[in-house]
Order: sequence, then structure tokens, then C-alpha cells
Amino acid sequence: MLPNATLTGVDPAENTGYTGVMTPPDASTAARPASVAARFLFLSGRLCLDFVHTGGAAERRVFEEWHTPGDLADWLAASPLRVTGITVSTTDLRAAQALREAIWHTAQACLRRERLPTAQIERINRLAQAPDLAPQLDGATQRSVWHPARSLSAALSTVARDAIALFASEQAHSMRQCANPQCLLLFVDASRPGKRRWCSMDRCGNRAKVTTYRRQRAQGRATGPQAE
Ligand SMILES: [Zn+2]
Repeated sequence: MLPNATLTGVDPAENTGYTGVMTPPDASTAARPASVAARFLFLSGRLCLDFVHTGGAAERRVFEEWHTPGDLADWLAASPLRVTGITVSTTDLRAAQALREAIWHTAQACLRRERLPTAQIERINRLAQAPDLAPQLDGATQRSVWHPARSLSAALSTVARDAIALFASEQAHSMRQCANPQCLLLFVDASRPGKRRWCSMDRCGNRAKVTTYRRQRAQGRATGPQAE
């Protein structure tokens, strides 16, 4: 993950949409304000991975976006869930952060082809047992909206269920971490050759190309013009 200040110019072509359990956005909040959306990263194409990309412990601490319960509420509203009206407490924030760690460590075990961590799996499974966000059909607009009885527990259940769907699927084997060691973003490689390296070309791919180009030019200057 890179600091948010570097997030401008995200390539829409790389953001290919959600591939997992897609839940319908609340029609009343479907248009998220650009100022809110720009605070957060929604690049992975997967709800549970975008959830992870909000920060974390250890080397991910510098990327923390959830400093207050209000930050988490803002993320839920800006996320593809587009769920608003949830009151978040400090305890709720800690629960969300714990789920984030559980998904991160499970993803890391997947990437390393290791046995999935039991305690983290139990945490994901426990949260998924709660009822998730319930979609309702709005007769007036013929759109899908969330049931008014929404809660953080339901939102976390939705995220946990998306994580279970991902880790239990073939897509778990296509999950990658961005090749930029400073980035740490995860994504599911849906490319046909299966050789995608970057979270997105604009964020990390083009930056690496420029670095390689500059290095090659510098080497060319150092060795002088080549005889033909
Ligand atoms: Zn990256």
C-alpha cells in the first residue's frame, strides 16, 4: 500500500470490478462523493481485499486509514457496499481491525501456499455466522437498497463471507501481492496469462517501467555510444 497522496491517476482499466459476492449498493447513496472515495483504495476488485488495504499492524501501520470509528463508517459508505447509517463504536472499530488482520494473515498463508492460520480462520468464521447485510427491493425505484436494520455486525459478516468465498475458491490460487515491495496491495490475477505483477499500472507498473528506463539510460551514458 502506498500513502493516499500517491493515489491519483488510478487506471480504470485495471479496476475491473468486483469478482466475488457482489451485494447491491444502497440506491440512496450509490453516488459516493469524490472527496470521500479519494480517501480510500478500492483497487483490488474484491471487497475483502479492499477491506484489508485500509491499514493494519506492523509494516502496514503507516497506511492506517481507520483512526476513529467515524473513519470506518466513512469507509463503509465509500466502499462498494455503499452502506450508510451505521453507528460505529470504538469496540466495533477494534473488531473490524481484528477481522482485517485475520484476512491479511490468511491471505499471506495462501500466497505462501502454507496451512491457513487456525485462530485467524476461526475469527473470520465467527463473524460470518452473524446475519449479513440484507438487500431489499425498493418498489418505487426498482432498485436494491439495504434493509434499515443494518449494523456493523452485518457489515463485518458480509466482508467475512466474501473472504470465505475467496479463500475457498480457485481464485485464492490466483491471488497475488503487488511486485512493488513498498506497496503490499493484494489482487486476484484474472489476466489470461496469469502473469500480472502490479496492483495497477498507474500506481506501480508505470513507476517500475520509468525506473528501469532511467537505469538503462544511465548505464548507456556510462558506457558511451556503442559502435555499430
Ligand atoms: Zn502496487
